[in-house]
Parts: sequence; C-alpha cells; structure tokens
Amino acid sequence: MKKEQIKTAKFGGSSLADAAHFRKVKEIVEADPARRYIVPSAPGRRSPEDEKVTDLLYRCYEEASSGADYHNSMEKIRKRYQDIIDELSLNVSLDAQFEKIKQAFLGCAGEEYAASRGEYLNAILLAAFLGYEFVDAAEVIRFDKYGNFQSERTNFFLSERLKNTRCAVIPGFYGADDAGNIHTFSRGGSDVSGALVARAVSADLYENWTDVSGFLLADPSIIHDPKKIHAMTFGELRELSYRGASVLHEEAVFPVRREGIPIQIRNTNDPADPGTIIRRQLSAEEEVPITGIAGKKEFAAISIAKNCMNSEIGFIKKLLEAFEENKISFEHLPSGIDTVSVILPRVEYEEKKDAIMASLRRLLDPDKIEVDTDLALVTVVGRGMRSVSGIAATFFTCLGVAHVNIKMIDMGSNEINCTIGVKNEDFEKAIRALYHALVEA
Ligand code: ASP
Repeated sequence: MKKEQIKTAKFGGSSLADAAHFRKVKEIVEADPARRYIVPSAPGRRSPEDEKVTDLLYRCYEEASSGADYHNSMEKIRKRYQDIIDELSLNVSLDAQFEKIKQAFLGCAGEEYAASRGEYLNAILLAAFLGYEFVDAAEVIRFDKYGNFQSERTNFFLSERLKNTRCAVIPGFYGADDAGNIHTFSRGGSDVSGALVARAVSADLYENWTDVSGFLLADPSIIHDPKKIHAMTFGELRELSYRGASVLHEEAVFPVRREGIPIQIRNTNDPADPGTIIRRQLSAEEEVPITGIAGKKEFAAISIAKNCMNSEIGFIKKLLEAFEENKISFEHLPSGIDTVSVILPRVEYEEKKDAIMASLRRLLDPDKIEVDTDLALVTVVGRGMRSVSGIAATFFTCLGVAHVNIKMIDMGSNEINCTIGVKNEDFEKAIRALYHALVEA
C-alpha cells in the first residue's frame, strides 16, 4: 500500500493579514488532503503603510510595561483579530485571551511572551476556520531557561503530540521552557517552527507559503525583473540566505535538511505557480551554471602581515583565539603566505576594535595590521559552476569591464560559491555586471 503523503504548510504574515487571505489559505489547505499540519505567522501588513501585529505587540508591551498609555496599541491589535472573526463569522471570542494578555503585559511578562501572542491568537482563529486542532507551541517547542532552543527535546515532544493528531494548527515563532516561560526565535522565526513540525511528522514536503513565487536569482531592487530560481540544493539555499536573500529564515534549513525533506517556497496569491523547490539533490535537467547572486554591504577586513607566518605552527589557532576571546564569529578568512585577512561585519569591528587590536598584538606579535572598513561582499552561488569551464574568466572580466575593483576573493571549498569583496559604492554595479555576464549572456 502506498504511504499516505504528509505536508507541513507554513503561512507567513502577509498570507494571513486579513479575512480575504484566510479564505485563500483555506482554499489552498483544502485543495490537498496531505496538508495536515499548518504553521501560521502573526497577521502581517495589509498594505505598505500598515503595521505587522508583531511590531504592534512589541510596542504595546513596551508601553504597558513602562507605565505609558498602551490602550491605543492594544485596541489596534484587538481590532485586527476581531475584523477577521467578524468577516469570517467565526464562532470564537478572544475576549478572555485579551484580558489575560493585558494582565500579563502589566505584570511585565516579558517581550518574548508579548511578541508570541501574535502567532498564538492567529493560530486559534485559523484552527477554528479550518476545523483543525489547535496545538499550542508552548507545549511542544522546547527551550532551556536561558532561551536556548532544544532541538532533540522539541522533536520528541512534537512527534509524540502530533502522532495521533490527524490535522493541527501549531503557531509559529515561539516555544517555552520547562517552567512555562515563553521564548521566541529571532524575527521571521515561524519558518523555523514550520521546519521543526515538518521534521517531527516526517513530512514528504515542507511548503512555505509567502507573498512571492519563490527565490529570485538576484535582488529585484538592483536587477530589473530577475529570473526565478526554480530549484536549488540545501547548500545553495544556506549560502544565499546567509548572504542576504531573505525569503526564508536562515535557520529553517537545518531541521529539514537532516531528514532530506524538500522545501517548496510558494505564493499564496498565485497558488498555481510552483515557486522554488529546495532539495538535497537535483536532477540533470535542473542543472544551471549559476543558481543565484546575493550580497551585503558594510563589512570590515582586518589584514595581518607577519614574515614566515606560513611556517609558524599554530598561527591561525592564535588568530582565531583573538576573535574567540572577543566573542566574534567571522565571515571569511582569505590567506596568503605571509598575510591573512579576517572579514567581519563593520559594526562589530567598530564596537570592539580596541579589544580586537589588543588581542591580535598580544597573541600574534604581527609585523603589520591594516584595516579596511569599506567592504561589501557579493556571492555567486551555483553547484553548476564546478562543471562549466570559463566561468571564472567571465566572472573577473565582467567586473574589470565594469571598473569594479576586487579587493578580496574567496572561493568556497565546496565549490558552490565564490565571494568577492568590493567597495560599498561598487556593490550594485558588481551585482549588475555579474548578472548580465553570467545569467543573461
Ligand atoms: N511574527 C514574527 C515576525 O514578524 C515571526 C514570523 O513572522 O515568522 O518576525
């Protein structure tokens, strides 16, 4: 007998911003009986001027806990949910919930508790609308008392709880510690919750429904109408998300990648579009030389020079120690024979520069240290780069033709990415040159 398919579907805030979107979500869920586990975000913006419920909650809590007047913000939040209830004629009242939330805010229950209520209330409404069971994330997503996420305990609790639950709505973004205190993931963390649910129920697919039809090959604010990424590997997703392609929370990949559960990014407003599929391996037909181009500005490079660095045993260990003792994780470490550079976010460098310099001098006794604080990083990702010759030549030629000076090059050891450092002001120019030469040509 064929195994019954299971899909976990996460719907982002823009997909659940109002009653009209709730209806679209219901249609999507009902169109496929495999969509049994649903993870919602809090209501997002209904228009560009609108506010996300999560932002309203943070503000309302700040007001309530500092003794300021919070009624206006609380009323706005209440109305967002009440409008959905009224328009969908749901037989649900959130009055008792709002009374509890108000008391908790006045009792300083914490910012994370406050923010989590957006997903909590939305999941109650969505569960009622779909006729699915509501499962509170506080019961199943586990954190320790310091707010560190516990992945294996979560997997245990979630899979046990959902084992005999055919269809459920589990709010995204938060969980709790054993004492019941609420903890949240970082912003956009419902993507992570969706991935955890997908893992726990051994889903065949993790669908992530949002307001765009998947990943684009480059940032549309830099490239006009860029091509879409139809398919990519988990490794490529990780590279692109880390480098700023912001469709999916960068930590959402881990729970599903380990189980080999594919992720599909889809558009709630265009459900016929297959969006982007992310899998462990892709077929030969899906092979393209360049998967995506992404980047970020505002990095700093600290370059250390010391004669015969290459033969000094333990030099790199001491270098890393200097960063470890200042609690800094770095981005890249390009090296030569007698020089090595450490690339890190510029704000982090500015904040800790005296301490970093002191550690470097004490531990390494370098000949020279130079710092460049005008650095943007651009990464070209593509598993296909390995097998196509001439890519490197095109890569560097196009930047030369565009008069972009390359300050640093780092070819990832897995050969699916190549990162270059350029001046911040050359950032957009570099991306345009690379896109035109590598993708359009
Ligand atoms: N509502 C939260 C946020 O705005 C979490 C999420 O949407 O994933 O960040």
